[in-house]
Amino acid sequence: MIGGGQLGRMLAQSASLLTIPITILDVGHSPAKHVIHPAPSNINPLTSSNILDANTTPTESHGEGHIDGSFSDPEKILELARRVDVLTVEIEHVNVAALESAERETGVLVQPRPSTIRTIQDKYLQKVHLVKHGVPVAESEAVASNAAAIEEQCKKWGMPLMLKSRTGAYDGRGNFVVSDISQAGQALQALKDRPSYAERWAAFKKEIAVMVVRSLTGEVVSYPAVETVHKESVCHLVFAPLRSDDPAVEERARKVAEDAVRTFEGAGVFGVEMFLMPDGSILVNEIAPRPHNSGHYTIEACNTSQYTNHLLAILGLPLGSTGMKVPSAAMLNILGFSSSFSPISQLVSTALTVPGATVHLYGKAESRKGRKMGHITVVGSSDAEVRSRLRPLLAALLPDPK
Ligand code: ATP
Ligand code: MG
Ligand code: MG
Repeated sequence: MIGGGQLGRMLAQSASLLTIPITILDVGHSPAKHVIHPAPSNINPLTSSNILDANTTPTESHGEGHIDGSFSDPEKILELARRVDVLTVEIEHVNVAALESAERETGVLVQPRPSTIRTIQDKYLQKVHLVKHGVPVAESEAVASNAAAIEEQCKKWGMPLMLKSRTGAYDGRGNFVVSDISQAGQALQALKDRPSYAERWAAFKKEIAVMVVRSLTGEVVSYPAVETVHKESVCHLVFAPLRSDDPAVEERARKVAEDAVRTFEGAGVFGVEMFLMPDGSILVNEIAPRPHNSGHYTIEACNTSQYTNHLLAILGLPLGSTGMKVPSAAMLNILGFSSSFSPISQLVSTALTVPGATVHLYGKAESRKGRKMGHITVVGSSDAEVRSRLRPLLAALLPDPK
């Protein structure tokens, strides 16, 4: 696996349950590396307790430990490719050319396909691809990195206007909302003159997301649609399943997401972020070629988690059921604080006393403002029960009134 952050950590946790040996490339003791060590070479992966078949038998060298290095380093990617049978990613900001040459040189199977990662990692190319395949999106246009070009776009489309970095973006870092034409220079500065593009403002009613799994043979299945609530462009809460005045929205959202994923090659889980517009139409915001924050809830709330299904998909094993096994669930991200006020320990100790709550901490070395440090999933027998269980957790995040 390329990347050893929290998504990789939860993938490794699922892999561990199935005794799927996994070797991680990332710098230092990244969160995923805490979970599992590569299987020692004296463990026979072909015993009845192992689900891998002879074609995906891990080689002797699995006992050599994880790889310390940048996941963009072609040498390190090659070293990883030599050691494994299937190579996957937990992040899309990877060196695709190095993935392709490692695949050519070693014959390792890369899933999802490098071509998919290449299209998706440039958010503007991703939009062009989706438009070409008839997937509904907010209109996008490439914009030169100068104030005059941004001002021109503002006059053409009106404001607010969403300016986005084409590459390297996450958690809204790479987005700038231009609400006044005088902000063009500020927008350039914020995006550090990186290649960018403009998106028409989407005055959505709700943000929703659907996790989609695609098997090696191209079978596509989806998880229930969820509502995602963002705060300052970072996912704050997820509610599953989606509740709406129009029950057909859920079905439409899943169809849009499945159709969008069908336009890409390769196996694995894809996170499809969407906007539900006031007229009931759905626009795709962006797609991630990997497990996704809006799918964390699947660990406690679904028959098969997104992480397990990602592994099953890339290994050519039968996919697990995506249905929910509880009536209702919510997920709260634990974000880092910068000030002296950090309620994380208060939040976690409260969560430990709430029935139906499960705490996940990622073991990141340092907390920074807005950094994803963990999450809490709450399940219950109804939406009302989940919301009442969530209440003390949200209260723990508020500053002490004293
Ligand atoms: P992620 O961490 O999900 O990868 P990102 O940095 O790639 O985030 P986006 O998903 O493009 O950023 O945007 C972040 C948030 O900004 C969205 O979830 C949404 O709330 C808002 N947003 C994005 N595009 C638009 C738009 N065209 N109109 C209105 N709001 C938008
Ligand atoms: Mg993104
Ligand atoms: Mg996003």
